Amino acid sequence: MKPGFDPIGGYRFSLALIAITTALAGASGCTEANAEPRDVERSGTALRPSETIAAAQSAPIAATEVTAVVASTPEEPTLTISAVGDCTLGDPAGTERAPGSFHKVFVENGEDLARPFSGVQTVLGADDLTIANLEGTLTTANAREGTAFSFRGKPEFAKMLSLGSVDIVNLANNHSYDCGPRGLSDTRESLRAANIGYFGVGDIDTRIVKGIEVHNLGYTGGKLDVRDEMAKAVRKLKRDDNLVIVSFHWGNEGSHESSDVQQTLGRAAIQAGADLVLGHHPHVLQGIEEYQGKKIVYSLGNFVFGGNGHPDDLDSMIFQAKFTKKAGKVVPLGYEVVPVSFSGHKSQNDFRPVLLEGADAARVRSDVEKYSALFGGAKLTD
Ligand SMILES: [Zn+2]
Repeated sequence: MKPGFDPIGGYRFSLALIAITTALAGASGCTEANAEPRDVERSGTALRPSETIAAAQSAPIAATEVTAVVASTPEEPTLTISAVGDCTLGDPAGTERAPGSFHKVFVENGEDLARPFSGVQTVLGADDLTIANLEGTLTTANAREGTAFSFRGKPEFAKMLSLGSVDIVNLANNHSYDCGPRGLSDTRESLRAANIGYFGVGDIDTRIVKGIEVHNLGYTGGKLDVRDEMAKAVRKLKRDDNLVIVSFHWGNEGSHESSDVQQTLGRAAIQAGADLVLGHHPHVLQGIEEYQGKKIVYSLGNFVFGGNGHPDDLDSMIFQAKFTKKAGKVVPLGYEVVPVSFSGHKSQNDFRPVLLEGADAARVRSDVEKYSALFGGAKLTD
């Protein structure tokens, strides 16, 4: 989603309007009172930010009013969700000063926090929700002893995500504890400060986008151990009128083939009611399976990836899924693979993904089709 706008913000905005009405009517009761100044160009609301804050702070609203706001969204909204793979906004701890490191490239480019995701804004800035895997920590805490690659970036790097139109990140992966428990809590704090949602490691992100409730869950799925816990959580959340998306950090690094564990877990998530399954960890693309009418994207590859300055395979993608709500039920509208190179430079990772065109784009699409052949071939656009 475009920086500066979020549907929850728009939602709060509407709440603020109701708050004024409610206050005038002398009603009491209390829930949401946390409006912030936001870009409202898509909300169609004309209230100035300062008025919003004043109204929201001074006038708590009754919970029952919320229903009216949700009902005022279009009856059949189109919700476009983008998913991208591994984002390591930093370097292996201790290598920050090395030539070509993520931190060094950041400084060489004028410390421009908007740069890393700037090459893909025509896609990520135009959707309704963008989900990424945050493969590393955003902290000043020391790296955990005994780990070869403790991914760590400055806390302020969380703003790269918000400036890059990323809305929520998965934290369930093998690098979330790279700087110990403090590293993880600092990372969460950095994300909150940048207005980025997160899920995994005990958290579920729940938000309403264009009137549709969207839940995101994340699991580290190297083994089947998480299957029961995951399925239980999905079953508990899933209803006809909402979306449940499950991310798994799973599979074998460097492999274009999804493993039996990936397939078993992915299908179990769909059986439990998930609308979409997103995968990462192999650092390369894998196939897409259509299972019971839903998509399992086995590996999204790398995206803004500070973990490797000289990767061999730069191919990646943005996976887009569209949904709508018909007669109170959320249904898929279509899917698309947007081919990407996760570096604009071929010889060295410049940590700035770009959209591919022409023959390069065709190659990535045909590769993903090839990796999907195992499942009878996935239609990449439908
Ligand atoms: Zn990983």
